[in-house]
Parts: sequence; C-alpha cells; structure tokens
Amino acid sequence: MKYNSTRDNSVSVASAEAIVKGLSSEGGLYIPDGIPAVSIDEIEAMAPMSYTERAQKILGLFLTDFKAGEIEDCVNKAYTKAKFGTNSIAPVYKLDKNRYVLELWHGPTCAFKDMALQILPHLLTTSVKKLGMNKEIVILVATSGDTGKAALEGFKDVEGTKIIVFYPENGVSGIQRLQMCTQEGGNVFVSAVNGNFDDAQTGVKEIFTDKAYNDALEEKGISLSSANSINWGRLVPQIVYYFSAYCDMLAAEEIKAGEQVNVCVPTGNFGNILAAYYAKRMGLPIKTLICASNANNVLTDFINTGTYDRNRDFYTTISPSMDILISSNLERLLYLLSGRDAQKVKGYMDELKATGKYTVSEDIFAAVRETFRAGYADDGKCRETIKRIESEFGYVIDPHTSVAVAVHEEYAAQTGDETKTIIASTASPFKFNGDVLTAILGSEELEDKDEFELLRLLSQRFSLTVPPSLGALEDKEVRFETVCAKSMMKAVVNEFLG
Ligand SMILES: *Cc1c(COP(=O)(O)O)cnc(C)c1O
Repeated sequence: MKYNSTRDNSVSVASAEAIVKGLSSEGGLYIPDGIPAVSIDEIEAMAPMSYTERAQKILGLFLTDFKAGEIEDCVNKAYTKAKFGTNSIAPVYKLDKNRYVLELWHGPTCAFKDMALQILPHLLTTSVKKLGMNKEIVILVATSGDTGKAALEGFKDVEGTKIIVFYPENGVSGIQRLQMCTQEGGNVFVSAVNGNFDDAQTGVKEIFTDKAYNDALEEKGISLSSANSINWGRLVPQIVYYFSAYCDMLAAEEIKAGEQVNVCVPTGNFGNILAAYYAKRMGLPIKTLICASNANNVLTDFINTGTYDRNRDFYTTISPSMDILISSNLERLLYLLSGRDAQKVKGYMDELKATGKYTVSEDIFAAVRETFRAGYADDGKCRETIKRIESEFGYVIDPHTSVAVAVHEEYAAQTGDETKTIIASTASPFKFNGDVLTAILGSEELEDKDEFELLRLLSQRFSLTVPPSLGALEDKEVRFETVCAKSMMKAVVNEFLG
C-alpha cells in the first residue's frame, strides 16, 4: 500500500515516509491509495482476541512496509495494562438497551488523545530507522491543553526523540498546567509562553518554517517534527478501537455477527470520526455516523447543507477540545467521497483559505448524506445531559462525551432509529471535574475548592476512583517553571538542545 496526497495523486510514498513527514510538501494530507477489506468472518475471528492482537491485525493492513514484528513491538509498547489500568484498553460500557459507551480515556492523561499518542512515538522511531535516517527527532508542540500532555507522556524516554511543549501561560486549566509542569522523563521540556494559544502556535510555526535554522539542525543530526493530528500515524491507531468495540459487543453477545450499529462521535478536527468512517469502508457493519459538535457547529452545518463556512463567531465552551472552526481531517473525507479527485479537493481548500468557505458538488454532498448525520449541543444542553445521565444511570460523563450523548438522543428522537449505537467517550469526567460537578451539583458546593478537593468530591459523591495519574499530581515536584516571551521560543529550544 502506498500513500498519495489529498492534493496531488502523483505523490506516492510508503507509510514510513508519510509518518515521518506528517504533511505532504504541497500542503495535502497523506492518504492510503486503497481501503483494505475485512470480512465478517475475520471480524468474528477477532472477537476472542486481546486489544493488542486486534491492533496488530488492523495496523498491519495499512502499514504494509512494516514487518509484522515491528508492528507487534510498537503495539506492545503502547497498549499496556500499566499505562491504561485495564487489559481491555478501550472498554465498552453498556448504558441501556441500545447505547454503548466506548471509553477511550483510560490512558495516562485521561483523554482519548492517548489512544494515538501512546503509539505514535514508536511508529515514528521505527519509520525513521526503516528509512535509514539515523537522526534524532525533536518534537515541537504548541498546545491548548490535551495534546501537549498526551504527546509528553507518549514521547517520554522514547529513545532517539526529544520533545518540547509550549503552552499559553493563562490559557490552560489548573489540572492541565500541573500535568505538564510535573512531567517526568529525561528527554522532555515544557515552557509557558507569555501570550495566548495563537501566539504559541505562531511561534512554533515560525521555527518549523525557518529553513536556515532547520538546515543547521539537520547538520547536527537533528530533525524537527510535529505530533500533529493530521499525521496518518495518529489516525490509523484510531481505526482499531471501532473494530475492538464491535468485537467486544460480539463477544458479550450484545449483537450478532454482521448486525449493523451506529457510531456517534464528539468531533473537533474530524480525526476520530474519520477513523470510524474508515472502519465502515473496510467492512465493519456501521450504518450511520453521527457527528456531534458543540456551539462551534461548523461541521453540523456542513453535513446538513454541503457548505463549509468558517466565517462565524468562535465560542469558548466547556468542551474546549472541540472548540475548532477548521476541521483539518475533513479534507481526507472529501478526497474519498470525490472519487480521489485531488484537483477538486485542492480547489475547495484554496477556496477555504481565500474566502473561509466552500460548497461541495452535488454528488459529494449526496455521498456525505448517505452515511453521515450531524447535530450540536450548546453548554446548557451539555450540562443538562451530564446531570440527567448521572441521575438516570449513575454514570458520570465528561462534557465532550455529553455533547455526543445529547446529539444522539436528538437524532434518535427525530428519526425513530433504534439501532444499537457506539458513543465515543473522549475524556474522563475527572479531567473536567469543575464543569462536571457544577452540572450535577450546582456551583455553590464548589466554592473555594481547589483542583484536588474537586477530584475528591467527584470521587466521594459518585463512588468513582480518582485516576491515579491525576491524584498523584498533588505530590509531584514541579519541574518546569520557565515562562518565555513569544520572541524567545527559539532560544528556549536552543538551550534545551544544547
Ligand atoms: C481532541 C478531542 C476531541 C476531538 O477529536 P477530533 O479527532 O479532533 O475530532 C474530542 N474530545 C476530546 C476530549 C479531545 O481531546
């Protein structure tokens, strides 16, 4: 299998190169030149397997330039009980007769980014070796919260790599700051930037595009890279857990082999739901994909009208990881639905850049409607849903998951569709303890409580165990206290690299 660019079909590289480069040079996204098929018999055969065995099988279909032993090694390093607290890695929780919550947050940072970022460093270092590059990879990340910590945990002490994360000084939650400033590992560095997320992001982009600087680093055997969500090495591990959830439901006799299910995903950059779409195209019996957004409902409008229009107000919500107006991975869907028409995709992306909007052709829109439905939930709806799900089922969900539950409820009520549905749960409620507790208990009980008191309150009131990685933050040493001006970010990188 080779990888083309969504903007140029003449690009054709092996998966190792797609993973190391991340983005194709003309700005397109790498995409496999085919979609491997998995039969119902093969899916049934995966039902008794462990998560790591299922992962080897699915990854092997896409990373055809990797040896089976190389994939096995990457998978076994990434998905361990020690890191995920459970052998099932991504367990399925049955809420009621047709709702199944796929818990993707049992990893070290309590959010679903771990599912990809625990394995990406191993895929990347293996790829570098395969290409005979013999370079040290230095990962630079600007983060608004979840990605930075997940990348730090993923790359921590991975041989042949270093990682530097910049976060906006006043732009992350208390827990998120503590998670990053206490980061362990001999190859990590964290710095706050005096500014907002855009400042941090712009600073990192300037370093990436400074050719003279990158050339000088290359001479020293250092290659800069990003752990960006458009990297194929982040997308492909996400296909695995949809197969795994279906297999778990088969093994528990919740469904019969071949029975169709729906999937509902709280969406930001369109990565997670695109992985579900791939699973469907490969043969996993998925009927409808329901795309759930918060008040930043640019994808809801796109799926309902065929017009993508980012010219709208940006809202800061209680599901911040979905506060996005440009969903980069949608480009891969357009490529697939246009019959791999790279020129057409390039045209849409040029229009998006120039005017902030584009309207897809009738045939692409029809193809979108064949599989996708969409809805959104604002913060009020999201809080109300957290409270109601807790009181009905004694099950506590985080705000991102709540958006998906709310959108699915509205879909089911409008369509009468009672198909069993996998709802992707993307963060532990402990990671968003303040908003979750406010939704259920109201704000009065929370007054004057610090982050750790909130963790304990959530734990005691609902008989839940505080995730060890969050509880341990209270006693951890703060290792990183640097705050730099935006203009000093390159100097920070230089100092760390010596
Ligand atoms: C990143 C993230 C999302 C959005 O996922 P996409 O793949 O960008 O659509 C949803 N929820 C949480 C908690 C996240 O961290």
